[in-house]
Amino acid sequence: MSRMIAVSGARLAVFHGNFVDTPSLGQLRNRETVSVGVSLTGADKGNIVFIKEGSVDPVADCREFDESLAAEEVVVVDGSGEAAFFFPGFVDTHIHASQYPNAGIFGNSTLLNWLETYTFPLEAALEHAEVAREVYEAVVRRTLANGTTTAAYFATIDAESTKLLARICSSRNQRALVGKVCMDQNSPDYYRETTEACLQNCRRVLSFLDQELKDPKIQPILTPRFAPSCSRELLLKLGQLSQDEGHLHIQTHLCETNEEISWVKSLFPECETYTHVYERFNLLTRKTVLAHCVHLTDDEARLIKAAESGVSHCPTSNSSLTSGECKVRWLLDQGIKVGLGTDVSGGFTCNMLAVARQAHLVSRHLAMREQNQKLRDHWKLSVPEVLFLATLGGAQALDMDEKIGSFEVGKQFDAQLINLKSPGSNVDIFAWQRPTLHINHANNRVRLPPGTTNEDLIAKWFFNGDDRNVSGVWVAGNPCHST
Ligand SMILES: [Zn+2]
Repeated sequence: MSRMIAVSGARLAVFHGNFVDTPSLGQLRNRETVSVGVSLTGADKGNIVFIKEGSVDPVADCREFDESLAAEEVVVVDGSGEAAFFFPGFVDTHIHASQYPNAGIFGNSTLLNWLETYTFPLEAALEHAEVAREVYEAVVRRTLANGTTTAAYFATIDAESTKLLARICSSRNQRALVGKVCMDQNSPDYYRETTEACLQNCRRVLSFLDQELKDPKIQPILTPRFAPSCSRELLLKLGQLSQDEGHLHIQTHLCETNEEISWVKSLFPECETYTHVYERFNLLTRKTVLAHCVHLTDDEARLIKAAESGVSHCPTSNSSLTSGECKVRWLLDQGIKVGLGTDVSGGFTCNMLAVARQAHLVSRHLAMREQNQKLRDHWKLSVPEVLFLATLGGAQALDMDEKIGSFEVGKQFDAQLINLKSPGSNVDIFAWQRPTLHINHANNRVRLPPGTTNEDLIAKWFFNGDDRNVSGVWVAGNPCHST
């Protein structure tokens, strides 16, 4: 097994090994001994250009694809191994990069006092460039080490440090949506902008990304923090800005706690529900991702579905801040797009695998509460379903699924190489659990348990794995710098 080393002059990278992904909700696709060719130059740079199953010789596969390729123009990444597989990079649909130092610090708080006590003071401190640099370098390094190849980041209200976050993502080769937080009311005096200053700073970040950074992996995302911290005028202007700029990505929070919902009702009495506030100001679009959605009404779910907006389910945050349990199955049954978010630091970890495990458990808590026996199992999310939410589901929620989330020709190659037998791995695999070894039971005096399927091994990784199993990360076919 080897990592790819960037080679100048290479036109194609070929990744060789087992490939696992979730092309649809509940489907776990396992393709063994595959060559995946990725273009490193030209208009399709970073794209998967061929997938060959049953591959014997990856270099021959490249020549078969393009016979003009010389040997030195091909980079081979050998990911083969009895317990190794490529998996799509995780898509974190909701993470506050600025709050990373507070991961795990939330005491006994709930949303609104958590913001006042822990969050606003930390975010305000990031107006100092040296503090921002330390925090943003750390969070990008840590998310990459955990296999997150795409993140929808909240920064802070400060434009300069938001630009710095974008620069760091770009230089470390992480795909990111980067948002300057917008708020002009209901926050402490030391951490608030006027409506005008907020809009001006938003435009500065947009033009920086478009004119200076010019990295297609880094896109802007408009970020009204949540309805209570935005005036009507600000919400209106942000809706207009999104449309004027050709439909920008939008991220915000929605229906996280009941206390917050009551507050929104008192602030926006003219709106039927919390969701209607965003709808009224043209902020509910197919490029909008809404974090939490724990306490939606039927009407609100219908609005979200009609707008084709996505939901970011943040189960570690919802459990930590005692916000509630998002009814993910109910959302999925209505055809609403759902991804997973770490919501650092309402959530205590930026490890998406840990968040996926929590999503699995939260669905079981909902099942335990179901009185109708027949419906109990329906609430439960399976391992393949949750892995879908962590990858392609997240890509859908961000309206990026044409580009990322699974291994298909024409998509960008964003991947992590998982090795269950990496040094220090927390996953122990026993001899009879290796499907490739074909243990001869007839010659064995010991009665062994039945053989283990690939799906079982994926489940062992899902429940016991961590960053020690991530032995390589690539975005657009290029290795990421996680150390
Ligand atoms: Zn959040």
